[in-house]
Amino acid sequence: RAEEERAEAHLEVVTRDNRMIEVAANIGSAEEARQASDCGADGVGLMRSEFLFLGRDAAPEEDDQRQEYQASVDALGSRPVIIRTLDIGADKQLPYLTLPAVPNPALGVRGMRLWQTQPALLDTQLRALLGVKPLRHLRIMVPMVSDASELEWVRERMEALAAEMRLTELPLLGAMIEVPSAALCSAAMAKVADFLSIGTNDLTQYGLAMDREDPQLAAQADVLHPGVLRLIQATLSGTANRCPVGVCGAAAGDDLAGPLLVAMGVSELSVEPSRIASVKARLRRLDAAVIAREIDTLLAMPDAASVRKALAPLVDAAL
Ligand code: PEP
Ligand code: MG
Repeated sequence: RAEEERAEAHLEVVTRDNRMIEVAANIGSAEEARQASDCGADGVGLMRSEFLFLGRDAAPEEDDQRQEYQASVDALGSRPVIIRTLDIGADKQLPYLTLPAVPNPALGVRGMRLWQTQPALLDTQLRALLGVKPLRHLRIMVPMVSDASELEWVRERMEALAAEMRLTELPLLGAMIEVPSAALCSAAMAKVADFLSIGTNDLTQYGLAMDREDPQLAAQADVLHPGVLRLIQATLSGTANRCPVGVCGAAAGDDLAGPLLVAMGVSELSVEPSRIASVKARLRRLDAAVIAREIDTLLAMPDAASVRKALAPLVDAAL
């Protein structure tokens, strides 16, 4: 069976109820992009670019960044590669970037908010990304976006830099949905974004007001909480198919949450490369309609434990 799964991992996925689902990979380097390709990824759904910036004394030069991004795009052939701009702050810090100590760093200057305080750092990264060829294989994704105006601002920056570089082609630009306000305002987001990707790790943290790093809250900080699921549903209903919505948080690769997300209407799941074969195999066996019929019931439940209990037999029945 494992042998069969590996062979089929390179083929596209259609569920039994005819939903086309892209199964992409989460990566942190060009090396992992090559692994993702070997594992059969339909693309890269999230390259966490901050790994290029960690464990060194200074930020990587524009050329070094470009080489890493180019190698990642090359590794996936013509499949799309989504590279996320620097997401530093809160749990991820850089020695050469002294951010002021604040009482609540997870609610502070992090992700795209850093653009205001460190414009050169982010502009250099954008220039490195815009140097990738061909740009139609690259997608740029912005983390920690709170509303459409923020993404609009990034688009303007990107267009200004592209004009300076005399580019005639622009990559697609998307936003992560990690902040509840962005989930609830997804209709406006979809007008500015070419694609959206739900970061369920942070959306759970901010939706439940539970620190994702706090071991005392680990069991309760559950993506299957009906409140978090309602934020995901709001994201999907607000976009009304105007732009594709994927998921790149850990929930995408989860045996229970993954099928539910597909039933709710996401079109892409981005998971660890090693999970691609088994996630694809499960999705091929999935009749998501069986779960879709019960979504309203699940969302009306009082807590995550109730959702888990009801969802487990539903997923079994759908496979
Ligand atoms: C997320 O928040 O779900 C996500 C994918 O981003 P990260 O885990 O890097 O914060
Ligand atoms: Mg995140």
